[in-house]
Order: sequence, then structure tokens, then C-alpha cells
Amino acid sequence: MTLSGLKPRRFLRPHGFNILITQCLSHTTCKSITISKRAGDWYIAFAYDVVTEENVKSYPSVGVDLGINALATLSTGVVFENPKVYRKAQKLLARRQRRLQRKQKVSNRYRKQKNLIAKTHKRVSDIRLDNTHKATTHICQNHAIVAIENLNVKGMLSNHKLAGAISDAGFYEFRRQLEYKCTKFGSKLVVVDRWYPSSKTCSNCGHKQEMPLKERVFNCANCGHRLNRDLNAAKNLNNYAINTEGLPVSERGGLIAPTLPCETLNNV
Ligand SMILES: [Zn+2]
Repeated sequence: MTLSGLKPRRFLRPHGFNILITQCLSHTTCKSITISKRAGDWYIAFAYDVVTEENVKSYPSVGVDLGINALATLSTGVVFENPKVYRKAQKLLARRQRRLQRKQKVSNRYRKQKNLIAKTHKRVSDIRLDNTHKATTHICQNHAIVAIENLNVKGMLSNHKLAGAISDAGFYEFRRQLEYKCTKFGSKLVVVDRWYPSSKTCSNCGHKQEMPLKERVFNCANCGHRLNRDLNAAKNLNNYAINTEGLPVSERGGLIAPTLPCETLNNV
């Protein structure tokens, strides 16, 4: 059976097995095939070379602030919510785990219950991954320069009060996706030093002031500028990227319109 040219979301049923095609397979030479098993389901992944065309970017640059309440706040005002899937599934998982403990080990019912728990974990991870993919694709597809803070994820995980929420947000995966998607879509990723005071600086006048974690709004003591804490941090990251990388400037000295092919932006 040939699999190339098959449309996605199509079910095949050879020999009684349900096969779901999630992506179109192109007519190219396959470099490797990976077969894996997750929570009782089998997956086949085909690897092949793809030449991606750089698209036109809607914005020259963007600052991305990662957080727990909102997964990512962009300096353009776009917010990607954190679905907090693990926290929502905790009750269900605990109930299924209790049922497992009541079953006799090495029995069919025990095996089925264990598989059900694995499927719940898989669903949690799939929802989280889907959400991260949507956010990172939007960011890399629409912005020529992407600025992100170099978060100390390991250090943050050692804080037991925050560890669960940080794992649930998936910061490490977010950064990993940004790295490869920036290359894929022809954007530039700027990783800002973790000591850069993005939360403590006013994005309007540059004044620095203390910002305890509980403060959700930045009220500048110098110029009176008032802005959501995460949006202010994202704007500062964007300002940092503009200052270090520079923006494309026209011959007359003005900024080039945002709807500019990224190729031109990258050459500046
Ligand atoms: Zn200010």
C-alpha cells in the first residue's frame, strides 16, 4: 500500500486496524521511519526533507513574555492562555489511580485500568503540546525578530510552590519549538539575558522600580504609565531586540512598513 498523497484526517482500515493520517505525505524519498507506542496506540512517523518558503511577516519584531496565568503575552497585545490541563485532570487521574489500586495485579482489568491512566496522561500532554504549537507557529510565522527571556527553568522548578504550574505550562518545550520554527519560517530568535529587568522597567520611559510577583499591573512612579505586568515585560523584551538587532530602515530614515518580506528584514 502506498501512503503518499493521502489526505489528512482520513481513516484507513486494513486488516481491521484503524489508521488515522494526520498529515499529507509528499512524493519525496523518505529518510527514516520511526515507529513508537504511546498509551496503547501505535505511531508511524516518516522523515523527509522539505524546502520551506519564507513568508511575509506582519510585524518586524515581537517580545514574548512567558508566564503561568497567561502562557505567552506578546508585545503586540496578543495573549495565549495557559490551558493548565494537568491541574484540571488531577482529580480524574487520582480517581483512576485509586481504582487501579483496588484491582488485582496481573489481571486483565488491572491492565485495562493502567492503560486508561496512560491515555489520560497522553491526552494532557497532547492538549498542552497542541496549545504550544499554535502559539509558537503564530509567533514565528508573523514576526521577523522574536525576543524571549532566557528563563532558568531548572532553577524555577526547584521552587516547590511553582514547580507544578511551571511544568504544566511547558516552558522548555515552548523555547525548543521557537528555536526550530524561527529557522523554519526565516525569523531571528533573540534570547535576552535572564538578568535583564524586563518586569521592573517601565516600557514607556525606562524607569526601574521593584515589582513583587503579586503586583499584576505596572504603575510607573516616574511617568504614571499604567500597563498589565506581562504586557509591559513583553514590550521591554521587544525594545531590547530593537536596540540590539535594529529595525530595517528605509533610505529616507523611516521605519519600513511592518508588512515586509522577512528576507529584507534578515538582511539588515
Ligand atoms: Zn514610566
